[in-house]
Amino acid sequence: MRVELLCTGDELVTGLITDTNSPYLEARLFDLGVKVERVVLVGDVRSDIIQALREASARADVVVVSGGLGPTTDDFTLECAAAVAGVALEEDARVLGWLRERYAARGVPINPSALRMARIPQGSQPIRNPAGSAPLVMLTLGRCQLFFLPGVPREYRALLDGEVLPRIQQALESRSVRVFRAFRLLRTVGIPESELDLAVAPLVASHPQVVFGFRTHAPENHLKLMAEAPSQAEADAALAAVEADSRRVLGSRVFGSDTEEYAPVVLNLLARARATLSVAESCTGGLISQQLTAVAGASATFLGGAVVYAEKMKSAWVGVPPEVLERHSAVSPQTAVAMAEGVRAACGTTYGLSVTGYAGPGGGTPEDPVGTVYCALAGPNMPTRCERLSFSGDRERVRLFAASHTLEMLRQ
Ligand code: ATP
Ligand code: MG
Repeated sequence: MRVELLCTGDELVTGLITDTNSPYLEARLFDLGVKVERVVLVGDVRSDIIQALREASARADVVVVSGGLGPTTDDFTLECAAAVAGVALEEDARVLGWLRERYAARGVPINPSALRMARIPQGSQPIRNPAGSAPLVMLTLGRCQLFFLPGVPREYRALLDGEVLPRIQQALESRSVRVFRAFRLLRTVGIPESELDLAVAPLVASHPQVVFGFRTHAPENHLKLMAEAPSQAEADAALAAVEADSRRVLGSRVFGSDTEEYAPVVLNLLARARATLSVAESCTGGLISQQLTAVAGASATFLGGAVVYAEKMKSAWVGVPPEVLERHSAVSPQTAVAMAEGVRAACGTTYGLSVTGYAGPGGGTPEDPVGTVYCALAGPNMPTRCERLSFSGDRERVRLFAASHTLEMLRQ
């Protein structure tokens, strides 16, 4: 079933309000297994609305239109619908009755502009609005079923849930071909979006029932897998197969799936190994500690650490020898190693992690320009490991990626 949405109103195309009606309907349709094909926003211009209605009704099985059903002169969606259908607007006795009742209940006299809401295209069917005045209007154009709803979100949602969605669901159930879907979001770190795409590309041909999608959520990149099949069991099986293949090609770069967050994954890893962690941060200024302590119960594994931003503090708090700083500078593998070993010794933890770098916009050297970061991991029965990383972008981005790559040392 092809469904398109059309929202009308000058306020939607002049930056005054954001369309919230469409996402509401999209999410509900998706639960029914229907992906909306197209959403169009049009201002209050008759010729544009007429053209948009014509195009959408020629393509789609169902078109849901929002806005422009009210009593004011900028409300002319039904007039446009009548033009497209080649019929006239006529006063509908049922709608007139509902309007009279509604006004009488509030003890206000009905005025001529409110009566405009009773004028609907010939041959269309009105449904009473439980939350407002303008009714839902249903109109058939060729093989397309159009639903016209008031734009006010409260009214739109009430009529959708009460009237429109049950009708769409019924139409879906009467169809012989139904589509079932299954989803998985694989969350990665340490792989750019373009490389993620390249790594997964060879899988596309062998999984024809799967739609691959990519989303950047810095510093993470997400792979979205959606399997479509004629039964739920087949969709689940297709998803399981593509997930297994994706995990195989991406390896440890996948840290979690669906709603799984990065910091809890790292903390769980440490907890399972009965290990504790301390961190010495320079250029990230506490970002790593912040991410870890955002997880409730982190103190079982993350004991603490230090923000050692100035050289003086690198020596005073985590014991980086002044000669190391003098000979190799504060941004160097030697300093990163001394910081990791120093914080590990000071806190008495299983592991000590450190990060130091040039976040910019100033600083850096010809050998180590802005964006260069050194991180190190000290632990038991292992030589301290150090990595040199290089990030592009502004200060915020460099710090974000530095924090994420430093924590990644624990998973490698
Ligand atoms: P009314 O009787 O209020 O005139 P209407 O059906 O004519 O209803 P509009 O005039 O287009 O609808 O919109 C009424 C109000 O509803 C707008 O001022 C706006 O605040 C809100 N609205 C309209 N369309 C949307 C939308 N797509 N998403 C969110 N809010 C909307
Ligand atoms: Mg209006």
